[in-house]
Amino acid sequence: MKNLTNKQIYKRIKNKRITGTVILFLVVAVIAWFAAYYSVKYFFRYIGDSKLAAGKNTAKTMGEIYDEGVEEKDDKIYDILDQFGLDYFLSDKDGKVVFSSGEVTVKGEPKEIELAMSSEKLMIYEDKSIDFLYVEDNVLRVSFTKVYSWMNKMGEEEADRLNEEMENGETTLDIPLWIVVPVNDGRYSLNVKTFIKLSERDVVIFAIIIIALAAFIFTLITIIFIRAISNIVRQRKITNYFFTNVVTGGKNWMWFHIKGEETLRRRKNAKNKYAVVNLSFINYRKYCLCHSVEAGEKLLFKINSVLSESINKKELSAHNNAAEFGLMLQYEDKDEITARIKELIGRLESIETGQKLAFQAGVAVIDVASYLERKQKDDSELIIEDEYNNACAARARLAESDESGVAFFDEKLVEEEKWLDSVQAFQDKAVKNEEFQVYYQPKYDPKTDELRGAEALIRWQSPELGFVSPGKFIPIFEKNGFITEIDHYMLSHVAKDQKRWLDQGYKCVPVSVNISRAHFVEEDLAEQIRDMVDAAGTPHEYIEIELTESAFFDDKKAMINTINKLKGYGFAVSMDDFGSGYSSLNSLKDMPLDVLKLDAEFFRGDQQGDRGAIVVSEAIRLAKSLNMRTVAEGVEVKEQVNFLAGEGCDMIQGYYYAKPMPGADYEERMRTGVKHVEDKTEEKPEEKAKEKTASV
Ligand code: C2E
Ligand code: CA
Ligand code: CA
Repeated sequence: MKNLTNKQIYKRIKNKRITGTVILFLVVAVIAWFAAYYSVKYFFRYIGDSKLAAGKNTAKTMGEIYDEGVEEKDDKIYDILDQFGLDYFLSDKDGKVVFSSGEVTVKGEPKEIELAMSSEKLMIYEDKSIDFLYVEDNVLRVSFTKVYSWMNKMGEEEADRLNEEMENGETTLDIPLWIVVPVNDGRYSLNVKTFIKLSERDVVIFAIIIIALAAFIFTLITIIFIRAISNIVRQRKITNYFFTNVVTGGKNWMWFHIKGEETLRRRKNAKNKYAVVNLSFINYRKYCLCHSVEAGEKLLFKINSVLSESINKKELSAHNNAAEFGLMLQYEDKDEITARIKELIGRLESIETGQKLAFQAGVAVIDVASYLERKQKDDSELIIEDEYNNACAARARLAESDESGVAFFDEKLVEEEKWLDSVQAFQDKAVKNEEFQVYYQPKYDPKTDELRGAEALIRWQSPELGFVSPGKFIPIFEKNGFITEIDHYMLSHVAKDQKRWLDQGYKCVPVSVNISRAHFVEEDLAEQIRDMVDAAGTPHEYIEIELTESAFFDDKKAMINTINKLKGYGFAVSMDDFGSGYSSLNSLKDMPLDVLKLDAEFFRGDQQGDRGAIVVSEAIRLAKSLNMRTVAEGVEVKEQVNFLAGEGCDMIQGYYYAKPMPGADYEERMRTGVKHVEDKTEEKPEEKAKEKTASV
């Protein structure tokens, strides 16, 4: 949600400001243009009207004189008209000249013009001698370019005269124009050649007005333009600021988000694949602790620089949070991208002289085409965030190690996370409803095939998840701490079972219960165990405690203390999974244990070889020398049993004798004293397959 809000803010900054400025600029520019255009136009028309007025009046007067003369049949009429000193001619309705005084230099047909300042209309002829004055849309217009070429064509003499006259402030330019006056009740037209007279002052005023107007418009437009530009620059700055990460000086997460989606949305990218990478500088906090936060941030700055240099124009990199960066890289195939990220990590590792840093990367691959398809369906917006999250989830798998590495996201990971989620969701309820069951796996003496002990192993019959083997939930509980609940649950159930069987007169043997290492932080663990067993009223010799080797790592002293206390209370303590990878011999040296459980790994595959046999027999010997009993785990075949019997192994716990079984079946074994019946101890069918792959 936060991102969308940011996005909206961004959009507001981005779009509104620019479009607003641009629109304002255009509107003002257009208004200024129109205002100038129309004011100039009407000004000139006004000037034009007033310049025409004199000629118009003369022509009218001549028309009136003509009409009077015609009425009075005055032949001298033309002499009177001649006295005006103007050329004129009389034409009939068809435009045919019926009388003329002076040269008839009209051009084309008469045209009607409207005067700007009155509703009066006027008919005129253009004159042949000039071409810059013309009528268009009932308006008398001037073509400035034509004026210019007309003046150029003017003879030298004429130009000299004009110059001289202008200097004297006299009338200068006489522009001929024929004014048409209807006479004789409209039967004829009197066409009088009048002149528009332009003085030097007129020209100067025109020029000043035009220059002033041009300057005004220019200034106006320039001011608006500068404002628009500065607005855009400011907006750019704000946008940059909005997208800058204060720590790294590079791009921030918002930018990654928006640009990333922009890249994906582009149709032309549809054939491409991209990889979203979560890159983390691990132990950042430690680094800050050893140096300073400031030094840490400087390092982030450097990392960011390396990242931005390492990507191409179509790729993105940005700081996400703390010491994590997001990358969006072009993806060809897994090998290529792995090599590229490894190379990048290699460069980052040596960014600090004299210290090797570690970086981990999680990668999620996006198929742009399928994204676009998805987007069309549900308008999904948060793809980048989702993919980045997937990349983070992939990286989280590396988090247990301090080494650099690359991990890819896949659907299996989602399944695992979902599984983790549901296991955790049901864990409390499962304890409350007793969904966990205790299975017993008997331990036999290989020489006599007699029952000597058993190990309690947990099973989960979940109404929601079905039958779940411990390999699928114990590691989860070990991580989230719920394992202590489980251990208590198992211990109290086993103690109760044993007590009941003893009361019923069974020939009971010790049952071992697994206690997880997570428990050993509790100082009073031994007391807790004792109290729980005592609560059931079970004699202590019927309960054995199994500790895994890995537990011996943490706090040795506390561990030894707890073991001693347990032994003091009369519980046997065994070392589980001996030989499965930790420093076993060392632990043996320090821990006063009763039982050594040889890990099933010894009996897997091709261990029949001489070397395997030597290790097993020596381990048994070693245990004997330390006064410990031995249990061989995971023994499945008769040859192994015979071998172990020969070597003096005390007990065997394995499928050869029995699989883990429900309490009732185990009870049956105790009752009948069954020694060993192959394959009679079936667990639930759905578990069969799982048992085969159970981890030890
Ligand atoms: P573990 O404590 O080493 O238990 C022995 C495992 O080996 C059991 O797996 C058992 O079924 C299996 N196993 C025994 N004999 C054979 C054999 O001949 N062949 C094969 N392939 N497997 C054999 P299970 O019951 O699945 O338990 C797995 C692990 O889960 C246990 O390893 C133990 O670490 C843990 N676990 C089981 N129950 C509990 C419990 O109640 N509390 C705690 N803390 N951990 C438990
Ligand atoms: Ca065990
Ligand atoms: Ca074991």
